[in-house]
Amino acid sequence: MPVQPTPAASSATSLAILRETFGFASFRGAQGQIVDHVAAGGDALVLMPTGGGKSLCYQIPSLLREGTGIVVSPLIALMQDQVAALTQLGVRAAFLNSSLDARAAYATERALAAGALDLLYVAPERLTTPRCLDLLAGAKLALFAIDEAHCVSHWGHDFRPEYLQLSLLHERFPGVPRIALTATADPQTRSEIVGRLALQDARLFVSSFDRPNIRYTIVDKVDPRAQLLRFIREEHAGESGIVYCLSRKKVDEVAAWLVAQGVPALPYHAGMDTAMRTEHQARFQREDALVMVATIAFGMGIDKPDVRFVAHLDLPKSIEGYYQETGRAGRDGEPADAWMAYGLADLVQQRRMIEQSEASEEYKRVSAAKLEALLGLCETAGCRRVRLLGYFGEASAPCGNCDTCLEPPQTWDASVAARKALSCVYRTGQRFGAVHLIDVLRGKATERVAGWGHDRLSVFGIGADLEEAQWRSVFRQLTALGYLRPDHAAYGALTLAESSRAVLKGEAGVELRRVAARKKASARRGAPAQALPAPNAELFERLKAWRAAQARAQSVPAYVIFHDRTLAAIASARPDSLEGLAGIDGIGEKKLERYGGQLLALLAQHRDALGSAAE
Ligand code: ADP
Ligand code: ZN
Repeated sequence: MPVQPTPAASSATSLAILRETFGFASFRGAQGQIVDHVAAGGDALVLMPTGGGKSLCYQIPSLLREGTGIVVSPLIALMQDQVAALTQLGVRAAFLNSSLDARAAYATERALAAGALDLLYVAPERLTTPRCLDLLAGAKLALFAIDEAHCVSHWGHDFRPEYLQLSLLHERFPGVPRIALTATADPQTRSEIVGRLALQDARLFVSSFDRPNIRYTIVDKVDPRAQLLRFIREEHAGESGIVYCLSRKKVDEVAAWLVAQGVPALPYHAGMDTAMRTEHQARFQREDALVMVATIAFGMGIDKPDVRFVAHLDLPKSIEGYYQETGRAGRDGEPADAWMAYGLADLVQQRRMIEQSEASEEYKRVSAAKLEALLGLCETAGCRRVRLLGYFGEASAPCGNCDTCLEPPQTWDASVAARKALSCVYRTGQRFGAVHLIDVLRGKATERVAGWGHDRLSVFGIGADLEEAQWRSVFRQLTALGYLRPDHAAYGALTLAESSRAVLKGEAGVELRRVAARKKASARRGAPAQALPAPNAELFERLKAWRAAQARAQSVPAYVIFHDRTLAAIASARPDSLEGLAGIDGIGEKKLERYGGQLLALLAQHRDALGSAAE
């Protein structure tokens, strides 16, 4: 039997490892409790948002306990970077997955058997092979960490059949503690994880799912490409971001268009060949300032901490999807944007996809309800974050960091306009989409309008008092609120729902959001560097250049050497001794030993340059 540290001893030691090995001053949230619980041999289910710091929850117990911590992760690209980052810290880590040749895999297996590894990352399909299980049986195991545990769920789009077999770990290795981790918050997924991985007795650790550094903004879709370009240029020039689109074709077009506009961008979708997809993902992960235009096929393998924005040009399918996709922004805790352009066509398209899918009625019902909840988030005049967190069962107060908090939308009594819009639908026979209906209301005798004789209707021109954009917003909101229903058999023609009758008769009023005038670019909140005064900003750039050279020489991503946040802290503190450097978050013993001298030399050079400039 391995000797178990007493809880008191283990918490002292876990803090020491946090400080000395990882270079962090204190645990975040429940990290400390989770580490102690697992280090003492307990099972745990950890629900923590992206960027919350899940990795430390199994990495530190693996170091505290005797034997090797086995980490199951579906993300091959990510394993390599995790192992590189751990190696930088002096932790003995390796991985086993299909990217290794036989000889390298054999060497790793030998190291495991010899007890020479603190952490071993294994792909799930490999772990469950008889060969690998025998190998584990012959080794001393500290724990099993099951990362991305929501992959056991049939409902999510990350479902991995191999994950279903992971319950055998419990049967085969009953004495080894297991910690399952996920950033997926909904109760259904949670209970699936507990059931499928046999975690009924595990202690549950649920963190707040708030991502306070992410600013949520949902704008009316008018000219989406131009809106996107303006958003990138004005708020995120030279930074990394992800743009999500629904179709492969649109991904290719938007990526090409951004490049033509001078924004470095790459496409990513399941229709591309594997080699190119892998290359694009690797470039995004490693380079600064690339924009990835992608379908939702992209994201699972992305562990890039400095993604500064996630933009949606199309509506996601659910709040879960929206939360997961936007959650890829700002893992490093620095300010980041979740931006979405949304319009009536999105809503019509998503409803059509649900209705016309081959899925079961139950699945369609659930999907429709999920879409409705997302529309509620898009149309709300209240705080977006309150809505978002409320969906996951978390109560909160208005956040002050979303578009509706920063510029509360005005609402207006739209009863008259709604009545006009609904009668126009009625008079034209419930066979037309919003574009045509708006032409009729505004009295535009287009060829199509005249062709149908709609210029002779009583509703022709009765809506000339409102702009086209206002009408678009009226139709969108009436549809989102359920007064109008798109008829998918008729290409999304808007039809009247039962509830519209009371509005048409003037018995019920309608309150709508006013379309926001385009906001001026908000004050740049930016990454840490932007907050630095001039001489420090220059130093920051030099530190970044030094880091880039290091990263290239070692072929690892730049953030594996140091995060932006750590470089910014160095640039503003400008320490002149190793002790001074050691006090900075993100500089542990190994990094101090390895890079301390070079950093001090660079800082001294900078001081000299400043000194001679002052003379
Ligand atoms: P998750 O897996 O939950 O998305 P990570 O484990 O990748 O999150 O951690 C996110 C970021 O936060 C990483 O850059 C990590 O180094 C940093 N981090 C985690 N815990 C701490 C801590 N206690 N103090 C400072 N930084 C931390
Ligand atoms: Zn808010």
